[in-house]
Amino acid sequence: MSAEEFPLSKNLQYLKPSETVSINQEAQRRRAAGEDIIDLSAGEPDFDTPKLVAEAGIRAIQQGKTHYPPTAGILELRAAVAHHLSLLSGGRPVNADNVVISTGAKQSIYNACMTLFGPGDRVLIPSPAWVSYPQIVHLARAEPVLVPGDIEWSLKVDVDTLERHADSRTRGVILCSPVNPTGAVYSRSELKALAEWTGSRGMWLISDEIYRRIHYGSGPAPSVLDLPDELLQRVVVIYGASKAYAMTGWRIGVALAPRPIAQAMAALQTHITSGASQPAQWAAAAAFGDDRVEAEVAAMVEAFRRRRDLVVAYFRQHLPGVEFVEPLGAFYFFFRVDQYFDGGISSASDFCQQLMASEGVALVPGDAFGDPRWVRLSFAASEKDLNRALERLARFARKLEAAHAAS
Ligand code: PMP
Ligand code: GLU
Repeated sequence: MSAEEFPLSKNLQYLKPSETVSINQEAQRRRAAGEDIIDLSAGEPDFDTPKLVAEAGIRAIQQGKTHYPPTAGILELRAAVAHHLSLLSGGRPVNADNVVISTGAKQSIYNACMTLFGPGDRVLIPSPAWVSYPQIVHLARAEPVLVPGDIEWSLKVDVDTLERHADSRTRGVILCSPVNPTGAVYSRSELKALAEWTGSRGMWLISDEIYRRIHYGSGPAPSVLDLPDELLQRVVVIYGASKAYAMTGWRIGVALAPRPIAQAMAALQTHITSGASQPAQWAAAAAFGDDRVEAEVAAMVEAFRRRRDLVVAYFRQHLPGVEFVEPLGAFYFFFRVDQYFDGGISSASDFCQQLMASEGVALVPGDAFGDPRWVRLSFAASEKDLNRALERLARFARKLEAAHAAS
């Protein structure tokens, strides 16, 4: 069967399946076939969903809360999210009517892009960037513009760099902080400068804060919700249960947007999903609304912090000279591999393929995030697995160094 025989709609003209998802599935396939694979590709907590949260989902099913939900989400969850986001930002008012619940933050971002952008529009995406942003912008038939971050500044972007990439067709920016794939975190003043710039240009700012609670500084990571109201008029905040609450499979995402945009996103959902799974919404309402769950989230964040420290210390000691971004949030470690190019490899993709084939460690090449000189390691894995994987990685790097020296 060829593409000529079955031509696809123009809607999918740029479509590439998610590389993070496919590498993860390849690692699982190899493991199921009996190979000794350590999978550090998945951007997914290895913890179980907190028991209280899981029980709330089960209770919802047993109580017959199994019908279509209100399309924007059940009020109990939207109110819990509004209260939770308010508390995270020093008690600022957050209105539940501006909250839309979707089938994962991925759909929240999709809804926002479909609602705000269209043919002819350009959308700036600081890069390296999570794989799905450019793809989702393409699905809205708009044009993604990757804006390279500054290597001297944890690969973050500033207003001047955005300005250089903007033109009269630029309608928005998709920002992620803490950043997937680097773990870098934008400070409050950096967020303020970005929001002032998008506001002054009449652009939309989509601020993906799904990793906000996984922050190694004090409290949650800085948010656009810490900024004054006048800077939030054209801002959509993306949040969710997947990462900090270990709920990836429940598929609950959150968007907080100005009322007309929230209404449009909810209307869009009426034709696509009719809203997120109702039992999953009751579970998420417990996650955001029950104080006891917060203690479990704090314990998971502490575990991520120990793992972050372990990976950073290992690289400093055993892979000195390998450049990396020190993660201040999320659970990703982004390191540079172009010093190994020539010794039989010429991209991060080659690096990851050979590492998987010869050492059984699955990582995601930076190619997936817009920069083929880097590799992403997810430290959402046990310390035992991390130690074993790091030893294998160091052995592989020594082999490449030897090949490089001989070439
Ligand atoms: N944004 C970022 C930056 C992510 O890494 C992910 C993870 N898939 C998502 C959004 C989507 O999250 P969800 O699993 O809730 O769809
Ligand atoms: N966000 C995670 C990652 O970057 C999960 C996979 C995905 O949805 O891309 O690996």
